[in-house]
Amino acid sequence: MRYVGNIFRPPSEADSLLLQATIGCSHNRCTFCAMYRDKQFRVRRLEEVLEDIAAAREYHGPDVRRVFLCDGNAFILPTPHLLRILTALEQAFPDLQRVGVYANARDLVSKPIEELKELAGHRLSLFYLGLESGSDAILRQIDKGATADEMVAGVRHGMAAGMKSSVIFLLGLGGRKQWRENAIDSAKVVSQMNPNYLSALTVTVVPGTPLARQQRSGEFELPEPAEFAAELRLFLERVDVKATVFRSNHASNYVPLDGRLPKDKERLVTELTEAIKHHRFKPEYLRGL
Ligand code: SF4
Repeated sequence: MRYVGNIFRPPSEADSLLLQATIGCSHNRCTFCAMYRDKQFRVRRLEEVLEDIAAAREYHGPDVRRVFLCDGNAFILPTPHLLRILTALEQAFPDLQRVGVYANARDLVSKPIEELKELAGHRLSLFYLGLESGSDAILRQIDKGATADEMVAGVRHGMAAGMKSSVIFLLGLGGRKQWRENAIDSAKVVSQMNPNYLSALTVTVVPGTPLARQQRSGEFELPEPAEFAAELRLFLERVDVKATVFRSNHASNYVPLDGRLPKDKERLVTELTEAIKHHRFKPEYLRGL
């Protein structure tokens, strides 16, 4: 496989074949994100992508079951372009079960439901959406380029077409001043989305990003581990979903948690309370980006 620049994927796609369909992120402005700052967004030539699929079939054989389409939001591709890629994947890998992709709210709602159903029918059945925060004020501060309502609409639209959703919430984005707002508004918005999967990650200030400059100027203050845990506890107390797999066990998290909501809510809240009480947090040297 040929890759341009650094490649990122969700933790749950660790065993997937990573296929680069676009280069970089079409938005590329979120203040905390350094993932694609070195890349100018562009669509990768379809011929190149198809060549990579053929090369992957040659190398891995026919048994690939999961594929993740990189980079930032390959879901921006027009539906016929995505279908060409998916059809080639299905032909190369007859046991293909799932293709995952990062998607943003606008790209989700811009595709009619029939198109989404067709994509899902060709195994593009899981999208990851970075909500980051349910607070519109925080979303503006981080230059997310979407409102909470737009993201709720995007997730619901995708799910109505039969796709599964994985939503990412970022603890600490409101800094020490807006931690309550980040927790409460995000819980409200996630409840409206009712996603299949939910991950709570912990914000890390990456050098060279606008957020790092805001931290240096005092505009943004990074919470302490106990404050991150209190923020997540408040979020969990408020969130009201029907059947969501919840994970907060990413390398960035101070308290690794996982469970199912609402079933495990009480246990997760208790684990956070115990961590706060006994100051049991993952040491910094064990945290990754
Ligand atoms: S967080 Fe997502 S949408 Fe924002 S710049 Fe990074 S990759 Fe793009």
